Amino acid sequence: MRAAVLHGPDRPVAIEDVRVKDPGPGEVRVAIRAAGLCHSDLSVIDGSIPYPTPVVLGHEGAGVVDAVGRGVIAVKEGDTVVLSTLAHCGRCPACEVGRPTECRNAPNPKETQPFTVDGKPAYQFANASAFVERTVVREQSAIPIDPRVPFECAALIGCGIMTGVGAVLNRAKVETGATMAVFGLGGIGLSCVQGGVLAGAARIIAVDVLPAKLDLARRLGATHTVDSSREDPVAVIKDLTRGGADYTFEAVGNLAVIRQALDALGAGGALTVVGVPKLGSRFDFVVHALYQNKAILGCRYGTARPRRDFPMLADLYLGGRLKIDELITRRYALEEFAGALEDLKSGGLARGVFSLEGRSHG
Ligand SMILES: [Zn+2]
Ligand SMILES: [Zn+2]
Repeated sequence: MRAAVLHGPDRPVAIEDVRVKDPGPGEVRVAIRAAGLCHSDLSVIDGSIPYPTPVVLGHEGAGVVDAVGRGVIAVKEGDTVVLSTLAHCGRCPACEVGRPTECRNAPNPKETQPFTVDGKPAYQFANASAFVERTVVREQSAIPIDPRVPFECAALIGCGIMTGVGAVLNRAKVETGATMAVFGLGGIGLSCVQGGVLAGAARIIAVDVLPAKLDLARRLGATHTVDSSREDPVAVIKDLTRGGADYTFEAVGNLAVIRQALDALGAGGALTVVGVPKLGSRFDFVVHALYQNKAILGCRYGTARPRRDFPMLADLYLGGRLKIDELITRRYALEEFAGALEDLKSGGLARGVFSLEGRSHG
């Protein structure tokens, strides 16, 4: 079967034949139907996130369970599932209190090799690997949802939607009537905007430099937009929020933007850093800001509890209250991988989605 395989940083991604092992105890095989292209895939390809190779890329995927290993109880053959990139033990103090993103005993995702390429073992990416016709994951990474959600929308729940909506609802816990601003309107930033709508934020100010993304943010519920190539977003946000936002979200991973998002806060406000800057990045700020009760929050994977959050997000979609179709800019076949990557780099994509539907087994 075909897969998108990376053989080393900065090498072209190969679309080639791979094999996947049968699911072992506690494992599930998923026939992938759709998979989204996310910035973390790009970061692995360009080497800014180091990862062992060869690796089967992709981590934002949805499909149908087609085999389960011994002892699997949470899913069965035929279930529609969304892949979760979270591996957690389920037994440490963090897991016990419902904070699996803070698990202390999580298995190292860089050690799993369920695939073979050219007779050699190949790594799984981020506990998932989705740019492949069939993948094998741990039971806890296959989350059943309502099968009425189209696969391409379901796929996005597993990374972009969860990360963005979760940052607002699970991490910042934005309350009804609050003011908030979102910096950077890729798939994750746009999902932060929608998180604000779901939370009932009174003002949702969306910041980017691309007019098309600002338009989309407005359609998804932003009450105001700022083109930061023309206006100073900090001044506009302070004006619109009568002195500074209650919540800001940085969804770029850029230190200058993190500073703007911090400066745009009002007293008592909280910045949530959702974007991931280059490994080892440092940030300095005026400590006195904290005496106005300001906070800087980190956020991993939308502080997800996948078994609770994925079905909830699917239900919100089916009820028309979470928009996902609007985030899908383009659809590709796996063979068009190089073109999709170029589109992502140029900033033209909220999300590009690969369709793997109807492919042969092999
Ligand atoms: Zn991702
Ligand atoms: Zn744990």
